[in-house]
Amino acid sequence: MSSLIFDHRTNAQRVVFGAGSARANLRRMVDEMGGGRVLLIADPSSAALADSLTADLQIVARVDEVVQHVPVDRATAATAIAQESRAELVITVGGGSATGLGKAVALQSGLPLTAVPTTFAGSEATDMWGMTAGSRKMTGTDPSVLPVVVIYDVELTAGLPTKLAITSGMNALAHAVDSLWAPRADPINEALAVAGMKELVPALRRLADSDVGLDARESMLFGAYLSAVAFGSAGSGMHHKICHVLGGAYALPHAPTHAVVLPYIVAFNSSSARRAIAEISSAIGGDDATGGLRALAIELGAPRSLREIGMAEKDLDEAALLCSEAIPATNPRQVDVPAIRKLLDAAWRGVAPSTA
Ligand code: NAD
Repeated sequence: MSSLIFDHRTNAQRVVFGAGSARANLRRMVDEMGGGRVLLIADPSSAALADSLTADLQIVARVDEVVQHVPVDRATAATAIAQESRAELVITVGGGSATGLGKAVALQSGLPLTAVPTTFAGSEATDMWGMTAGSRKMTGTDPSVLPVVVIYDVELTAGLPTKLAITSGMNALAHAVDSLWAPRADPINEALAVAGMKELVPALRRLADSDVGLDARESMLFGAYLSAVAFGSAGSGMHHKICHVLGGAYALPHAPTHAVVLPYIVAFNSSSARRAIAEISSAIGGDDATGGLRALAIELGAPRSLREIGMAEKDLDEAALLCSEAIPATNPRQVDVPAIRKLLDAAWRGVAPSTA
């Protein structure tokens, strides 16, 4: 009897990839869309890059106040700027925070979005948006926030310091891993996730080696895209729900939070998701997904505890409660507050993750 039964949706998006060609590709894509008045959103670290990439375009307004997790008042202010300047399209240049602000403007204004990523966050490949109000992160999906065009150019990542590249890469890897048990996991997004992991893991290992030039970063960009498409399709699993709670409620940095939490989620699910664990082990090399991820984090010098990235121990009880409410009921292993409290405690201390 067939066991291949699924219902998969693929998002329509134009993806233009090419080293050294972002400016020409951006111009060509905007021309193909009929040109127009552009609202440019660029995070300050990418300001000069954004100027040169968009020199051929009609920039009618610019927003450079880009803040992680998109505070809702910043999104509303940027949307007002888009409307006052009669912008017809939005272009973002920067990491996931710039893309995220562009998505919020697209959501509130209906303007089409083009993303030019400079990190491996992968937000550009999903129709998921996130905003924070107070200390809570709200997330949702909406077709209007999926960038109509994504322009990838590895040269734009050249200025990303290795430490940031590593944590961003771990965030990309987390997209692939979490897709394997997310609520809409299916054989198509699983295939994308596996391909993403196989691209990302060797590239992560080469990132710190300055001799490899931009080759490793190009593989990172491609693997990050594959993994984010898988994630966008499969939805947020246990890992992302926990990271969103921690990022929103305790203002933890996004990519480092993913880097710390991922091995603990893999350990937690390992006895209940054998097929996924076998795929993760195979991508990392060896037969121990949890140990392999931990060893990878050590090898890369990635952060390994919530304590070191700024979480206070006193918040662990509340966090366990918030996380357990957010984790999907479809998670392969049953979740309860004491189990999450134990997991968070281990992640806070940075001790070796336990599969028990
Ligand atoms: P980020 O965009 O905040 O960038 C991290 C740091 O890197 C910033 O200081 C930035 O200025 C700097 N930077 C970026 N590009 C650079 C470059 N080329 N050279 C030098 N410095 C550079 O962080 P991020 O990890 O890319 O994105 C995190 C945000 O993206 C979070 O808000 C997260 O929720 C969101 N996100 C959303 C999705 C989604 O599908 N909706 C997916 C992934 C991440």
